[in-house]
Amino acid sequence: TPVIGVLALQGDVREHVAALTAAGAQAVPVRRPRELEAVDGLVIPGGESTTMSRLVDVFELREPIDKRIVGGMPVYGSCAGMIMLATEVLDGRPDQRGFDGISMTVRRNAFGRQVDSFEAPVTITGIAGDPFHAVFIRAPWVERVGEGVQVLGQVADGPSAGRIVAVRQGNLLATSFHPELTGDARLHRYFVDLVRATA
Ligand code: GLN
Repeated sequence: TPVIGVLALQGDVREHVAALTAAGAQAVPVRRPRELEAVDGLVIPGGESTTMSRLVDVFELREPIDKRIVGGMPVYGSCAGMIMLATEVLDGRPDQRGFDGISMTVRRNAFGRQVDSFEAPVTITGIAGDPFHAVFIRAPWVERVGEGVQVLGQVADGPSAGRIVAVRQGNLLATSFHPELTGDARLHRYFVDLVRATA
């Protein structure tokens, strides 16, 4: 059974632990470098990326996580977690910093103030079955992807049609939406399979 950590500094940690458990992993909260050493993969939850960025430094996890990423550890980030995995952030706070992650530019709170939260069907490449019932909460979107980044999902229609909301680069996976909130374990299963294939 793969052991998958959930970065537990801030955000919807519990929901990811439950989703990973439902997907067949052993899920453990990660707050310290020593706890990071014991995991085969890591989830960065939704929450607030500026706060998370600050806490990553306070808990001295930035360098250890960057090192594990470079070493090939699979990481999945949802929403704020996607922002933490982006090499470039628009509309971020000047002092916020992400990991050595996915070559992409994301825009924070991109879907606009009028629609803080909304739901839309999103089909994910490589995941069979019905489209995801994707829940977006002050979500980012991906404005640019670099070389080697695979677009896995885009908003299908409506005013945000075509916006990129799921990507993968090697062992790094990110979604703008929160599959951990809807009881649909398929995305976590996809990630658990990725961790299994890597470990
Ligand atoms: N707007 C938040 C941020 O900038 C992300 C929101 C979320 O994770 N639901 O970090």
